[in-house]
Parts: sequence; structure tokens; C-alpha cells
Amino acid sequence: MLNQHPATARPLPIIEPFRIKCVDPIRVLSRAERERVLERAGSNLFRVPARDVLIDLLTDSGTGAMSSEQWAALMRGDESYAGAQSYYRFQHAVHELTGLEHAIPTHQGRAAEFLLFGACVQRGQLVPSNTHFDTTRANIEDRGAIALDLPCAEGLDTASSHPFKGDMDLVALERALVEHGARVPLVMITATNNAGGGQPVSLANLRALSQLCRRHGKPLFLDACRFAENAWLLKLREEGLAARTPREIARAMFELVDGCTMSAKKDGLANIGGFLALRDGALAERVRARMVVTEGFPTYGGLSGRDLDAIAQGLVEVLEPDYLDYRHASIRYVVDRLAAAGVPVVQPAGGHAIFLDAARFLPQLGWREYPGQALALELYLEGGIRACEVGSVMLARRDAAGAELPARHELVRLAVPRRTYTQSHMDYVIEIVRRVHERRGSVAGVRIVEQPAVLRHFGARFARVRAEISAAT
Ligand SMILES: *Cc1c(COP(=O)(O)O)cnc(C)c1O
Repeated sequence: MLNQHPATARPLPIIEPFRIKCVDPIRVLSRAERERVLERAGSNLFRVPARDVLIDLLTDSGTGAMSSEQWAALMRGDESYAGAQSYYRFQHAVHELTGLEHAIPTHQGRAAEFLLFGACVQRGQLVPSNTHFDTTRANIEDRGAIALDLPCAEGLDTASSHPFKGDMDLVALERALVEHGARVPLVMITATNNAGGGQPVSLANLRALSQLCRRHGKPLFLDACRFAENAWLLKLREEGLAARTPREIARAMFELVDGCTMSAKKDGLANIGGFLALRDGALAERVRARMVVTEGFPTYGGLSGRDLDAIAQGLVEVLEPDYLDYRHASIRYVVDRLAAAGVPVVQPAGGHAIFLDAARFLPQLGWREYPGQALALELYLEGGIRACEVGSVMLARRDAAGAELPARHELVRLAVPRRTYTQSHMDYVIEIVRRVHERRGSVAGVRIVEQPAVLRHFGARFARVRAEISAAT
């Protein structure tokens, strides 16, 4: 593999296992122009037009580049309403990958969640997971049920370098099943654990989880959005898996579950789409009967035939060892370089993103000055990089009296789109983060000027705290 060398050899630079056939220009603005852009956007990066961003690391969802084979597959797309050939190619790809008999296409991952929980979850029930992704949680709560997060202790510690920080706390799960078993319709596991930093779930944990669920008669569902990145991290880190292919490891993961929800915008290497895959034919029939109302006929599920073909091809390419090797090597490269420069970065490197610990990066700011938001704004001002705050702006909680409580961590996520940026872009990102780190003492906090009632990070407006004080005096 391109990026694995014996320890004795002088390492080659990391290279992308592809060449470029089509280019998408990006624009460099001056610092003064970037300041004006932020001004207009109320200092909220979600309000910044994409054309004013140089390197866009806001999300890895749907932002990847398709291969020439995927573009060719688009032309093969069969747009028949019912039983299109694209559907059978899609169904075949999902079955080959997962071994799950029934593949139901959906327009995104959240639609697969909506259909699954709509068929299985009732008001007042309890759905445990290692950590529910926010759309998963929202879909469970929308059913009037409770989404219960049971991550392992290491998963909550940003300084821990435990190899499987995505594992579920099985002692806590067993306790929940003993105490509330009758209220638990199913168990979920998210691999990699997106909310927990893209950290992998070990096969050992998944196997023990599967046995526990079987003992208690509960079906187990995998949130499989990043199944290939999870498989790759297990190959690198888990005892006995080094010689297995990513495809074999992924198959071993799917064999332990009763079904999966999937966003093809992540490890489907597509720009839109998702699916629900199930072992239970009766459950699949119930879902198919309901989905016509919201998603479309069961052989297209809200997607065009060409989307289904792009996903079918993406599910094959995403498990290519050279691709996974390069993807992880380039993310780890950024994490290692930043750590070596003294930048507080979450370890070990996860599957899809680099996380900066903004509380340690900007220790002069209290959580009320939103250090994650302040740091994300600095990265944009310094170098046109768009990252995402994952801290008290996005995840603040409220106490019984309605007062705001801080999030558990103040992080900034640099999510890396798949096959989109090159190694020189990664070097540029490292240099920009280092420059902000070198002048970190002068970075001011922010306050919220205006905010929507729900999901405030998308719409809020911010003002600089200290800049305002100096302007007033
Ligand atoms: C993105 C994501 C989802 C939801 O998928 P969408 O396609 O955005 O609806 C669910 N779970 C995880 C872990 C995700 O990362």
C-alpha cells in the first residue's frame, strides 16, 4: 500500500491514489474581504456563501468527489418508476457488502432512521446506543421515545488515546436491559462514532454487544454511515485483523447485526442518498408499505436511478485499501503535525475529521465566550478555512430553570471531504492552524446577538466580545 512503509525505510510523501480529470476552482480572498464576509454573515460560518470559502471542512457529508466509474454509472441510470435496473444493481451491491437480504433506498440516512423507528419504536420506549447521531436522536424523540447514549468511559476523554473510543459501555447496557428491558424495542450502534470524534467500534465490542442483545431478545441495528472507515481503523488497531481485507472486516461487522441505516453521503461516496437494510422480511414489508407516503416507491425511495447506480459503485470503491489507507494517513498526518507543534488536538486521529480542543487552545476564554466559535472564525480570517464549532454553541444544555449549561467539550471539527482535497491542501491547513495558535493570546471571544429557538448554530448571529469593548472605550 502507498502509505505503509517498514519503519526502517525513509517514508515517501503521502500521495492521493487517483489523478485529477476535472477541476473545480477555489478562490482566495484577501483578509479584508474575509472580514467583510464574516460581518455580513453575522460571524456565523453556516451563513457564509461557499464561493467565499477556500478550503471547506464544514462537513464530510455529501461533499466528496465521485470517480470516473461513478460518473459513468450515472449514464447507466435507469429512470423507470418501478423495478429499474439501477435498483437491482443497488440491491446487489448492498447485499454483497452486508449480507442483508432487504435493501430499501432512501433519500438520506435520516429517512432510513425515520422508516425504521416508525415501524419499530413506540411512545415512551427507550433506544440505547453508544452515541446517537443528532438526526437519529431527533427521529427517536419524534416518536415520543428516549434516545439513551452509553459510550465507554474513554470515549468521553479527549486526552485518552484508547484505540476503540467508539465502543459501547456494555455493563451500562446490560443494566438498562435488566431494568427497562420491556421498554427497549431495539439497540443501535454507530460506527464510527461520529458524535464521539469518528472513533471506531471494535469487533470485540460489537460481538459482545450482539450476544448481549440476542440473550435479551433485542434486535441490533448498525448506524453504518462510516462502516468503511471503521473497518480500516480496526484493521490498523485490532488484534488479529491486520491480514484481513477491509471488505472482510466490514462483512464481519454486518454479520453481527439485524440491519443497518446508512447515509450514502458518507461512505457511499455519493452526493445524496441512503438506505435501510434488513434481515427480517416481514419488517421490510411493513416499511415498504409505509414508505410510499413519504419517500416514494420502494425501488427508488426518493432517489433517481442514476443516484442508485452511483451509490452501488461507491460502496465498492470505498473499501479499496489504497483509498482507505490514503484517507486515514492524510488525516493522521494533520493530527500528528499539529500535536507536534503543541496544538491541542483530539487523539488518536479519527476516521473522517480532525478535532481541535478549543478550550485548551484558547484558555483565556470561558465557555460563555464560546471558544470553539471564536477559533472557527479565526481559521476563516487567517486562511479562508471553514470548520464547524462542536461545543456550547451547538450542544449547550439547559437546566430545569432554563439557564444555559456548557457542552461537555469545546471542539472545532475539521471534517475532511472524501477524495476532494490534496496533501498540499492539508499542509496549508496545518500552517493556518499553527499561525492562529502562535497568536492565540490575542484571540477574542464571541457572544450571541440573536438566535433561533432550535438548532441555533445554523442561524445565530455573533459579535466579538473584546473588539466591542475596545471600540466602546
Ligand atoms: C450523517 C449521519 C446520519 C444522517 O445521515 P443524512 O444523510 O445526513 O440524513 C446518521 N448517522 C450518522 C452517524 C451520520 O454521520
